[in-house]
Amino acid sequence: MSSSDNGVGRRSPPAVTLLLAVAASVMTWGGAAGAAEFDGARAMAWLERQCALGPRIPGSPGHAALETAIIEHARSLGLTAHRLPFERPHPYARETLRLTNLVILAGRGSGPRLWIGAHYDSRPTCDRDPDPARAAQPLTGANDGASGTAVLLHLAELMAAEPPPRPVALIFFDGEDLGRAGDLDGYCLGSRRLAEHWNDFGAPLAGPPPRGLILLDMIGDRDLAIPQEGYGLALAGEWTRTVFARAEALGLSAFVPEPGPAVFDDHVPFLRRGLPAVDLIDFDYPAWHTAADVPAACSAASLEQAGALVWDLIRHPPD
Ligand SMILES: [Zn+2]
Repeated sequence: MSSSDNGVGRRSPPAVTLLLAVAASVMTWGGAAGAAEFDGARAMAWLERQCALGPRIPGSPGHAALETAIIEHARSLGLTAHRLPFERPHPYARETLRLTNLVILAGRGSGPRLWIGAHYDSRPTCDRDPDPARAAQPLTGANDGASGTAVLLHLAELMAAEPPPRPVALIFFDGEDLGRAGDLDGYCLGSRRLAEHWNDFGAPLAGPPPRGLILLDMIGDRDLAIPQEGYGLALAGEWTRTVFARAEALGLSAFVPEPGPAVFDDHVPFLRRGLPAVDLIDFDYPAWHTAADVPAACSAASLEQAGALVWDLIRHPPD
């Protein structure tokens, strides 16, 4: 694990304080009168603050700081937050891996629920970087990790100010990005676990199946174009088309209602269990798994496109 060598631990305490201070300030903002719209600049600030924590590799100080900040953020807003820790063998090391999925619940109404997901961990290496020295370094993960998480953190603020008409779960998946190239079994560890256990007695997601899961991953690219991801289109076509039809109705030009590549991501374990799931992802991102995946490669406008779509689906849930 590289986290003890790179000074992350020394930076973590002030970074946690920063995140908690932001969470506290949101209470005032969240209480403002009138209907709030999704604010891309606010989501961008959440993206930058996650990156300032350093790498969020499972077991690292940055990961622990972000996990705490997400839970504290939800509770400061008056929302219910759950930690779902679990252990499993590390896919590449003779050690036990401790991972924690996080769930924030909002809305008390009845009817089909929406699940909105993103992974909050970041990748241990920049293994696709052409520079060997940079390739060994941990990923900043501005787009790959922080972008989807940032949108969820701002959605929590919006839902605290305007409770959704139907129940919504924000799901922060752990252990998405530990896999090695060519080995899908090392990826999506948190979502695999949750897809197997979501309906366990007493679990925060237990109950009737959701209307659908919307996964946000790599939605911060400055040059954003999101096609219909292949696994979701094949196994949950109706749900995919429902979500993209809303984007079109809202005039959100980043969403392209055409078939895109199939991307093995956190929605796949749920599709395999027969649950509708769509992955909003722009996989055409040259900085993917390189040292260039930094906040400058992302934009508030892109986050706002994805956030505006999901916020509208939360406010006006599809039947
Ligand atoms: Zn990744």
